[in-house]
Amino acid sequence: MNQPVQAHPGLETDLRHAFEREELFLRYQPQIDLASGRISAVEALVRWRPPDREALSPAVFLPLAESIGYIAPIDAWVLRQAAAQNAAWQASGLPAARIAVNLSMHRFRRNGLAHSVAGILEETGLPAPQLELELTERIFQEDPATTLHTLAQLSDLGIRLTLDDFGSGFFSIRQLMHFPIDTLKIDPSFVAGIPGDRSCMGIVKAIFSLAHNLGMSVVAEGVETREQLTFLLRHGCDRAQGFLLSKPVDAGKIEQLLGMNPIPPT
Ligand code: C2E
Ligand code: MG
Ligand code: MG
Repeated sequence: MNQPVQAHPGLETDLRHAFEREELFLRYQPQIDLASGRISAVEALVRWRPPDREALSPAVFLPLAESIGYIAPIDAWVLRQAAAQNAAWQASGLPAARIAVNLSMHRFRRNGLAHSVAGILEETGLPAPQLELELTERIFQEDPATTLHTLAQLSDLGIRLTLDDFGSGFFSIRQLMHFPIDTLKIDPSFVAGIPGDRSCMGIVKAIFSLAHNLGMSVVAEGVETREQLTFLLRHGCDRAQGFLLSKPVDAGKIEQLLGMNPIPPT
């Protein structure tokens, strides 16, 4: 999935046709609530299968999409698909879980974002508290007044806001006081340092304390080992996501997992 895009010069043209050829699709990765063992959220992750090729990871094609101004339409498509999918799961009687959707800075900066999110909620029938938007620290790099205004509008809709890859960017801790963020998602590089790296473990514990004292919850992603999960449980992490619990899977598999909620320990 991670072949370099430079090796395929026709890829840019192909990407421009990805929508009409219906080549984009979603995978979903569960997040487990560590207190109950239940799936409390599911993250939607976009994939692209170009003609005659293996599916590509977003880490490969999203930078290309960004360079040709295509990332905001992709994000809009993902949000609509993911919201509709979660509404369908809930309509079929499966236990409720939030759907978490990643949003690029380009999409975040577009005018009328809250209006368009409200429209998608209405169109799909998904209750606002069942949607979570994952934003990266990049949105704080410029124009904090506009960022605050947009976040406040989104928060007023009743959806949840998460800071993805927390600790990897340029975010100042002071800003946490002023922005309506519900959840910090710890950058996986810190989780990877458990249990060997004392600094990583210290940072992870400090993030739990920081978040909880500010009334926020914490998700750890990139959880790959039992030792990591045990550490996270012991130190009060709220949710965990990673290959140990489940890889990103198709919608049918999520239905099965939600149906057997809480998922059995591995
Ligand atoms: P992210 O939002 O931080 O998503 C987590 C990434 O880590 C996913 O990669 C996921 O498959 C991977 N992952 C999950 N658990 C583990 C684990 O235990 N070990 C390891 N090594 N990796 C794990 P993926 O799907 O390739 O997505 C990469 C990034 O692409 C995402 O990082 C997100 O920033 C971006 N992305 C994905 N879908 C979208 C989208 O619809 N819109 C936007 N703007 N960005 C997206
Ligand atoms: Mg994410
Ligand atoms: Mg992340």
